[in-house]
Amino acid sequence: MDKNGMNCNICGNKKMELFLKTPEGDYLKCLNCGVVQHSNVPSISAIGKIYNREYFTKKKEGRGADFIGEEKLYKERFSDRLKRIEKRIKKGRMLDIGASVGHFMSVAKEHGWDVSGIEISADAVEMAKQRYRLDIQIGTIDDINIEKGLFDVVTLWHVFEHFPDPLSPLRKIYDCVRDGGLLVMELPNIESKEAKSDITKWSFLMPDEHIHHYTPKAISILLETNGFKVENIEYASGGTGIGEKMEKLGIAGIKNLLLKIFPPARWMRKGLLKVLTVHGSEEIMIIFARKIKQNPR
Ligand SMILES: [Zn+2]
Repeated sequence: MDKNGMNCNICGNKKMELFLKTPEGDYLKCLNCGVVQHSNVPSISAIGKIYNREYFTKKKEGRGADFIGEEKLYKERFSDRLKRIEKRIKKGRMLDIGASVGHFMSVAKEHGWDVSGIEISADAVEMAKQRYRLDIQIGTIDDINIEKGLFDVVTLWHVFEHFPDPLSPLRKIYDCVRDGGLLVMELPNIESKEAKSDITKWSFLMPDEHIHHYTPKAISILLETNGFKVENIEYASGGTGIGEKMEKLGIAGIKNLLLKIFPPARWMRKGLLKVLTVHGSEEIMIIFARKIKQNPR
């Protein structure tokens, strides 16, 4: 599409400017809400093909992750996220969209939540079922029928930025959350200093997967024009859970020692280095939005 003719699909603004050229296509930036979006939006089936078994078990060239090998780290991080949710709402029914290999669902299940999941990758669903015996369906939110108002909480962990069209899944999410229920999503923050310092090296750029890069303002506009009230946006570092924990404990000073004793795991060293040197990072946003009961249409 001609970039001059493209409107922002978050706020409707007509002024989009070239933000970055990548081998996968151009990213355009909205001059009003700051969202950065791909000019060539892939189809959902092309997106589905990326997420095979290898994606979930190997980390290479910035794509995918070793979700199984790094299970403990992921589960620690998700325990933290669940605590943040439990501060805001009573335990009940939860839906995790883009559930991947089921780490978050399994943490929630262990804590007594009645949890269901949706995942586009059949490989990931198979791994999640084998590993945790979870209630998880293959597909996208658009092609699965869900009873209206069924869920107290809907979560999307690093998923929403992958959607080619954020509006149609958002409407579906709105329908399946009960009045007063919560929508919780975690996204990379294109306005963070990590993103701004050198965008081409930013580990969350991922132009072949991240169709939209949101700013706090952009995601708030999108949610608030679609029936949600953004209660809070919390921020976190994009590094590993271990590093964050050490930072919290105030033992970041032993970084050099740690880097020495972790010689084989280079990814971990990189992760440690990153999180231990970033104080008050806002690289990741965790958005808590509550469904507002609307007048009958
Ligand atoms: Zn905009």
